[in-house]
Amino acid sequence: MSRRVWATVNLSALRDNARTARAAAPRSRIMAVVKSDAYGHGMVPAATALAPETDAFAVTCVEEAAVLREAGFRQPIVLLEGPFAAEDLESAAALGLEPVLHTEWQVEALARARLSAPVAPWIKVDTGMHRLGFPPEAVGEVWRRLHGAPSVQPQIGFMTHLACADDRADTATQRQLAVFDEACAGLPGPRSAANSAGVLGWPGGHFDWIRPGIMLYGASPFIDGRGGHQPLAPVMTLEGRLIAVNHYRAGDALGYGATWRCPEPMPVGVISVGYGDGYPRHAPSGTPVLVDGVRTALVGRVSMDMLCVDLRGHPGVAVGAPATLWGDGLPAEEVAGAAGTISYELFCRTTPRARRRYVGAAQTEVT
Ligand SMILES: *Cc1c(COP(=O)(O)O)cnc(C)c1O
Repeated sequence: MSRRVWATVNLSALRDNARTARAAAPRSRIMAVVKSDAYGHGMVPAATALAPETDAFAVTCVEEAAVLREAGFRQPIVLLEGPFAAEDLESAAALGLEPVLHTEWQVEALARARLSAPVAPWIKVDTGMHRLGFPPEAVGEVWRRLHGAPSVQPQIGFMTHLACADDRADTATQRQLAVFDEACAGLPGPRSAANSAGVLGWPGGHFDWIRPGIMLYGASPFIDGRGGHQPLAPVMTLEGRLIAVNHYRAGDALGYGATWRCPEPMPVGVISVGYGDGYPRHAPSGTPVLVDGVRTALVGRVSMDMLCVDLRGHPGVAVGAPATLWGDGLPAEEVAGAAGTISYELFCRTTPRARRRYVGAAQTEVT
C-alpha cells in the first residue's frame, strides 16, 4: 500500500459549475477566474475543462497569463491587478492581455506608452470595498486620458469588486452597484462587477461580464454555506488512507502536545494526511473526516504527515480504508468552517505532495 495522498480534480464537475454560472447570468459573458493555479486545482487542466464554457480568463499577473498563452489558449485574458511594473504593459501587448488599471501610475504609463500593439484596458472603480480602484468621481477623467491614446484600443471596460456579496442580507452590495452604475453612466464600454457571490446572489450586478471563481471549483460563495441557488458540484476531493487503528485506554493522550485524551477505552485511526499536504494544522478536534464514507471526528493536533480520528462510531473499519478530508461527500465549506478558514484557502494551500489526479472531461494524471 503506498502512502499516496490524492487531490482528485473532477473536470466534468468544473465544467458543470461553469454551466451553472452561465444559467444564472444568461445575458452576461463569463470571465473564468483561474488565478493562483486555478485556486490550487491546476491552471492548465482547469482552463482546458472550462474553455468551452468560458469567454475569457482572469488571472493576477503576467506570469500566470503567459502559462495560459504557452498552453495555446487564445481567449482574452484579464490581468485583475493590472501591471505591477511598466514593463508588464509591453508583455500585455505582446500576449494580448487586458490590464485592469487601478492606480494613477498605471494610467499615466499606459496613456504615454508606445506598445507593439494597443491593449484593451479596464478601469477599476472603488465603489466601497476600499482595496483597489479609483474613486467614482475620478472615473470620467481616467477614461478621457486613456481614450484615443495610441496604445489603447477603442474598447475600455469598467470593473468593480463587491466586498459583502457573500452575505445576501447585507445592504452594502446594492449601494456598491448603484455607485458603480452612476460612476460609469454615459461612458461606453463593458461593465463587470460580479464575483461568484454576485453571480448567484445579486442578479442586478451581472452587467456584461461575470467573474466567477470559487463557484467554478464547487464551493458556495455564501457565508451561510449553501441554499438558494443551483447546487454546485465538488471539484477537488482530498483523499488519504487509514494507515493504523490503535486501541487506547481512558485517559491516554494523543499526539503532539497531548492536547486530546481518550474519555473511555476507544479505537483511534491514523490518516495519511497532514499539513504537509495542505490540511490546515489549526483544524480543531471535532473537524469532520470521512473514513470509508462514514463521518468521524479529528482528534488531537494535526501533524505534518498524519492526523488522528475518533473511530468509536466506526469500529470495524480496516487499515487501508480510504479517507476523505474534503470534497465528494464532505463539503470543503464545512471543513473550512470548522477550521476557521474558507474553502478558497483550503484549495489554494493544498501542496504538490497531494498529487493532482484529473478525472472527468479529460483523463490525465499529473505526477
Ligand atoms: C478572485 C477574484 C474574483 C473571483 O472571486 P470568487 O469569490 O472566487 O468568485 C473576481 N474578481 C476579482 C477582481 C478577483 O480578484
